[in-house]
Amino acid sequence: TFSGWLVSKEADASGKETQTASVRELSDDDLMPGDTVVSVEYSSINYKDGLALCGRPGVVRNWPLIPGIDLVGTVESSDSDVWSAGDVVLLNGAGIGEGHHGGLAQRARVDGDFLVRVPDALGARRAAAIGTAGFTAMLSVLAVEKHGVSPGDGSVLVTGAAGGVGSVAVALLSRLGFEVVASTGRVDSEGEYLRALGASDVIDRSTLSEPGKPMQSQRYAAVVDAVGSHTLVNAIAQLAYGGVATACGLAQGPDLPATVLPFILRGVSLAGINSVDAPLASRQEAWDRLARDLDVGLLDSMTEEIPLAAAQERAESILDGGVRGRTVVDVNA
Ligand code: NAP
Repeated sequence: TFSGWLVSKEADASGKETQTASVRELSDDDLMPGDTVVSVEYSSINYKDGLALCGRPGVVRNWPLIPGIDLVGTVESSDSDVWSAGDVVLLNGAGIGEGHHGGLAQRARVDGDFLVRVPDALGARRAAAIGTAGFTAMLSVLAVEKHGVSPGDGSVLVTGAAGGVGSVAVALLSRLGFEVVASTGRVDSEGEYLRALGASDVIDRSTLSEPGKPMQSQRYAAVVDAVGSHTLVNAIAQLAYGGVATACGLAQGPDLPATVLPFILRGVSLAGINSVDAPLASRQEAWDRLARDLDVGLLDSMTEEIPLAAAQERAESILDGGVRGRTVVDVNA
C-alpha cells in the first residue's frame, strides 16, 4: 500500500453533494489504467490543486480522485517504448489531478505519452518546484518571443507577480535581459523578493484592477498575465504598438471586459496559454528552455517544501492569495 490524498464526493441526506479530501492508504488496485508506473517523489501546489484540495468545483471531474496536477518521480515499470525502469520523469497537466489520478500520492500509473525526462541540470526537486506554474510561465515567455518581442523593444509587465506563474516569469524574463515590471497586491511584503528575482520596478496591483480607459499610455512591449479581468484589459490598453499580452489565468476573474480599440488602433495581440493540453513537442521545448534559462538559485529562493500531510493547509493559503512563489510537496515525508 501507499499514501495519497483522495478527493471524494458525497451526498448528504438532502441530496446536496460535497467534495472532501483526506490522506488515505491506497493500493495499486486503486490506480487508473496507464502504461507506466511511477514511484512519485514530489508534487506541488498550484492554484488548481488548491481548488481540488479545498472541495471547490471546477477542477476534479472524476470521483474519487487523487489530486495533484504535477508529478515527478522514477519509472518503476513501463510498457511504453520510450520509458524504462529507473528513468526520472515529470508530468504536468495532461489531465492528471483533474480526470486521471494525479501526483499527490506515493505512486502513479499514467500514460507515458506526455512524460518528459527530468533535465539533468534541474533534478527531481527543482523540476517539481517549477511544476505546472513554472512550465506555464515558460510557455508564456515563449509566446512573447514567438511574437517577435525582444529586450530592446521595451519593458514587460508581469501580473500576479508574487504567485507561482508570476515569480517564475519574473525570474525568466529578467535572466533573458528584459526589463520587468512586477504587479503585486503585496508591494510592502514582497517588493524586495520581486526585485531579488529581477524586477526593476514593482507596482501595486490596485493600479490595474479597476475599470480603466480603453486606450492608455503605451508602457509595455509585452504583458505576461495570470490574473484576467480588468487587470488584463488595462494591461492590453497599456501595450505599445505591435505588443502582445499572454493570458493564462483568472486570479481576479474569468471576464474580459475589453474593447477592440487597442487591437485595431495599436495592432496588439492576445495569446492564450494552455499548459494542460500542450503537445509533447512544446512541452519538450519549454522544459529544455527552463533547464537553460531559469536561474536555479532564484528558483530555490522562491521554493518552499512541505510534507504530504500539509498539502491541504497550503491549498487554503494559495486560494487566499497568501502563498509566495512555489510550494513543493515531498510525498514521502
Ligand atoms: P498563485 O500562486 O496563487 O498566483 C496567483 C497570484 O495572482 C497571486 O499570488 C496574487 O499575486 C494574484 N492574485 C490573486 N488574487 C488576485 C486578485 N483578486 N486580483 C489580482 N491579482 C490577484 O497561482 P498560480 O498557480 O501561479 O496560478 C496563477 C493563475 O494561472 C491561476 O488562475 C491558475 O489557474 C492559472 N494557471 C493557468 C494555467 C494554464 O494552463 N492556462 C497553468 C497554470 C496556472 P500578488 O499577491 O503578487 O498580487
